[in-house]
Amino acid sequence: MNYKIVRLNTTAKTEIEHAVLIIYTGGTLGMAYDAQGALVPFNFGQILEKIPNLNNLNISITVISFPEPIDSSNINLQHWVDMAYIIYENYDTYDGFVVLHGTDTMAYSASMLSYMLKGLNKPVIFTGAQLPISEMRSDARENLMTSLEIAITKANGKPVVPEVCIFFNHTLLRGNRSKKVQSVHFDAFESENYPALAESGIIIDYNYAAIRPHEEGKQLRYFNQLDNQVMVIKLFPGITQNVIESCIKMKRLKGIILETYGSGNSPSEPWFLNLMEKAVEKGLFVLNVSQCNGGRVIQGRYQTSKDLKRIGVLSGGDITTEAAVTKMMFLLANEPDENEIKRKLITPLAGEMSVLSQ
Ligand code: ASP
Repeated sequence: MNYKIVRLNTTAKTEIEHAVLIIYTGGTLGMAYDAQGALVPFNFGQILEKIPNLNNLNISITVISFPEPIDSSNINLQHWVDMAYIIYENYDTYDGFVVLHGTDTMAYSASMLSYMLKGLNKPVIFTGAQLPISEMRSDARENLMTSLEIAITKANGKPVVPEVCIFFNHTLLRGNRSKKVQSVHFDAFESENYPALAESGIIIDYNYAAIRPHEEGKQLRYFNQLDNQVMVIKLFPGITQNVIESCIKMKRLKGIILETYGSGNSPSEPWFLNLMEKAVEKGLFVLNVSQCNGGRVIQGRYQTSKDLKRIGVLSGGDITTEAAVTKMMFLLANEPDENEIKRKLITPLAGEMSVLSQ
């Protein structure tokens, strides 16, 4: 990829102590209205003009921009590989990383990077905005400035938040626990099953107990293989046999995220269970994830989920669909042993689910 690199010359009076790498991928934060009135991404050089304060920070900032900034609805596997590679390549040079990204798929990207960057010991903070930075009431400045601060914050010389996060609307969330829940208001993200890692007000109040601790001597490893032969089947009352059958028959398909009701319940009609059994027997990995944002899958709690457990559907516990889809893509490409894929799907890899999974 042909990145554009911009180094900001800071005007800070004191000696610069911190360095942050911003990866600009696109998103509303850096969009402007085109002639037809639609929002389209523009180049980072123009964004800098909108935040002159950046130059006054006591932080040395480098920006690597995607050659063509994108609406995050266009994110693909190669973009994830690029983001992870940029962080891996520049890991030793910077205290932390800020990824400017559209909100639409931010939770997917943050989840995927949490798996691809194994042994991460520095902050990777995803942020963006609901309103373009050029708008008076934009949330972009606050989101970016606080993300930069979080990216350089240390305690006893160690990064306070050494994990992949999303910072948005005064709240820092674990990336692979987040979900976009709002498309109009500023509070775009939630993490129903895991506490916020920090809240920003006059100070940034860190929830140390929830943050993954820094581990001395951990080596960063980067994975660049992903496999997208997966699909999400969202159950709804009235779903037909034909639909499920066609999904299962799909050529090359390897994994299904089954979005079930409540605590992991599905119809108990024989045709449905037979098809699920067929899918498992065929070698497809089927992971049961709840349609509810909060709570968890407990297979066996109701009769309507007991059978799923019996036929070998795996429980996603309290994982989000975003974290589950990306985890499946990651494991399919990086774990050769089928039983290990099954074991890892029901076990936390990067804090994306709670330990209890049944
Ligand atoms: N469509 C935009 C994107 O995800 C929305 C946003 O940035 O908030 O790129």
